[in-house]
Amino acid sequence: MDFDYTPEEQRFRKQVRAWLGWHQPRRRARLEPGALTDDAEWQRLVDWHKTLYAGGWIGLSWPKEYGGRGATLMEQIIFNQELGRRKLPAGCNVLGVMMAGPAIMHWGTEEQKQRHLRNILSGDEIWCEGLSEPGSGSDLASLQCRAIPDGDDFVVNGQKVWTTLAHRSRWIQLFVRTDTEAIQHQGLSCLLVDVQSPGVTVRPLRQITGEAEFNEIFFEDVRVPKANLLGPLNAGWQVLITTLMHERAGIGELGSEQIIDHLLELARRVRRDGRPASKDGYVRQQLAQFAIEVQARKLNGLRSLTKRLKGAPPGPEGSIGKLAATELTQRMARFAVELAGPQALVEKDSPFALDRGRWLQSILRSPALTIAGGTSEVNRNIIAERILGLPK
Ligand SMILES: Cc1cc2nc3c(=O)[nH]c(=O)nc-3n(C[C@H](O)[C@H](O)[C@H](O)COP(=O)(O)OP(=O)(O)OC[C@H]3O[C@@H](n4cnc5c(N)ncnc54)[C@H](O)[C@@H]3O)c2cc1C
Repeated sequence: MDFDYTPEEQRFRKQVRAWLGWHQPRRRARLEPGALTDDAEWQRLVDWHKTLYAGGWIGLSWPKEYGGRGATLMEQIIFNQELGRRKLPAGCNVLGVMMAGPAIMHWGTEEQKQRHLRNILSGDEIWCEGLSEPGSGSDLASLQCRAIPDGDDFVVNGQKVWTTLAHRSRWIQLFVRTDTEAIQHQGLSCLLVDVQSPGVTVRPLRQITGEAEFNEIFFEDVRVPKANLLGPLNAGWQVLITTLMHERAGIGELGSEQIIDHLLELARRVRRDGRPASKDGYVRQQLAQFAIEVQARKLNGLRSLTKRLKGAPPGPEGSIGKLAATELTQRMARFAVELAGPQALVEKDSPFALDRGRWLQSILRSPALTIAGGTSEVNRNIIAERILGLPK
């Protein structure tokens, strides 16, 4: 493994830095639950997406024929690093660019690709992901939302839940049951559904953070053209695997390096036994442990990157990054509260809030990350069976 960047990559990084320095919004848009709920914040995020798109930075590594720049994966990663360094979001259509787009690129007909891919990049079509149902989350093969063929259409009935961004979305990548006789996972298909179709109802769900970033979504006799079937009929399971692998690879890129920087800064500021907490042996050990884990996660990420640079698609090793990043984030948030005490739990709007309520937000939200995109237990199963080759 070579850790150095080539001269071309270093030049590219300079170019990215210069562009971001010139274009980054003065008031930073956030891709946080707040931005998904508050209309003004959302609009700032959309504006930032349009700026990125105009600069050719959205879907950097997508092929040129679909509106991307055909950049190398390494260039995409350098760009993401530079966004992360400035704490800037990657735009407003994260699920479209990270999941629906790659799935359409892999499985779509030429017509579907031409219809959707450019609009996903430009942010003109916001997408969400319809997998989970009230009775099917980890066990997606048991999903019940039905699609029955009728003339040129499918007729869809059922419910999805926890659908992130559905209230902002125009399109949903919807997984449905098209064969009730087949073994569970063999009877699924994937449909591209216009959320504004008659019979679709989206209801936001409020979370413990007070925000409403995800939704329940109901389908009552919704007609979906057969031309919107993504991949072969009853091959939805394969489409689902492609989609989830891109999701886990994406979640694994969470900014744990940024969080540890905030944590170090907090440890220098708060006091323990009359001196900065950063001088305390116990605190130093904890911080060192987090730093080791951040580094291990980074190196493991580079290992799967090496595989992808050789042309392989994201594989089950995405589960390692996802599991490690989300559990580490959760433990670091808990440690911040241990360091700062009850003040870390003051809400952001109070004058007594610490770091504008960052740690309370993190404590309340980080458990969700260990559930979204596959729970920690499910990811451990994947690592055990598909990477370590252990029996079921
Ligand atoms: C912030 C957030 C955003 C989300 N966004 C979306 C979205 O956009 N679209 C979407 O479709 N879904 C979304 N989800 C739903 C998410 O994918 C599911 O919550 C997740 O897959 C778990 O399913 P479940 O909630 O039904 O829990 P269950 O599957 O009922 O699991 C309950 C518990 O049992 C454990 N468990 C289940 N099966 C096993 C097993 N085989 N071995 C060991 N333990 C097991 C689980 O780990 C968990 O602790 C989101 C969830 C969150 C928290």
